Amino acid sequence: MNVSFEFFPPQTEEMERTLWTSIERLAPLAPEFVSVTYGAGGATRERTHATVARIVEETTIKPAAHLTCVGATSSEIDEVARSYWDIGVRHIVALRGDPQGGVGQSFRPHPEGYANSTALVAGLKSLADFEITVSAYPEGHPESASFEQDIDVLKAKIDAGATRAITQFFFENEVYFRFLDKCYDRGITIPIIPGIVPVQNFRQTARFAQRAGATVPTWLAERFEGLDDDPTTRRLIAATVAAEQVFDLVDAGVEHFHFYTMNRADLVYAICHLLGLRPQAETKAA
Ligand code: FAD
Repeated sequence: MNVSFEFFPPQTEEMERTLWTSIERLAPLAPEFVSVTYGAGGATRERTHATVARIVEETTIKPAAHLTCVGATSSEIDEVARSYWDIGVRHIVALRGDPQGGVGQSFRPHPEGYANSTALVAGLKSLADFEITVSAYPEGHPESASFEQDIDVLKAKIDAGATRAITQFFFENEVYFRFLDKCYDRGITIPIIPGIVPVQNFRQTARFAQRAGATVPTWLAERFEGLDDDPTTRRLIAATVAAEQVFDLVDAGVEHFHFYTMNRADLVYAICHLLGLRPQAETKAA
């Protein structure tokens, strides 16, 4: 069983401590890689870089740095990518990024920037032999004209050099299976790893889902009903819900899971334990 974990760069010292406690807890499970997200704007760019650099220096896990096209010229993005290569990072999660005006606005590329995710993948590949992962949207991207267009875009990203896709999170596995069928029908053979979000906080997850165009089924809302002030039961329910989802995917033959950790380890650690993962020999992380 393979797993990978996604983290976001911390904004405060306290968040940094939480992140590193989580990385140190999850690292012994020997994930295939851990990825660090990237927001628009310079500050996040530096925080992503600093987090990835610390993972390289202090652990033996392989980091994947997310990179987007938003708000920067292609030479600036190339410069960030080169700086990753120089510190030993070989894996980039290449994304277009959300429109600067926010989700729902139309995306306008920087006048001297990469026009879209496909152009970014091609640009990165021409810089160095990065391993490139891209996104996939089992329920369709909120801006997509049709499923067909999304799959065309995924194919274009693969033709440009992507070798793996990670999906937006979803709660109904049927949605993922249908999407895989459509991809196979179109000749897509790269791994399409399911992105799993353990519901640490239902309200927050529902907000994210709305922005991401992911459906929150009624049964899921009902499971968390009345638990706003009961974090202990919420955690138990969250573990049960995630285990159900993951085991249904295992039954269908899925062997790699990408967990959106929200920088918290406990729930993800428990699910990985259920999946049979056990701590391996120590990493460089203290
Ligand atoms: P794209 O592949 O660019 O597709 C987006 C939409 O544009 C689709 O509807 C597609 O059909 C359309 N499109 C793309 N190219 C073309 C074209 N040539 N012609 C016509 N239509 C086109 N955001 C961040 O800011 N930072 C992150 O670190 C981050 N990490 C993410 C990780 C994962 C696994 C996922 C699933 C999403 C992540 N996002 C992140 C969110 C992502 O940036 C947004 O969803 C963004 O709106 C789309 O970028 P994309 O590369 O995922 O999609």
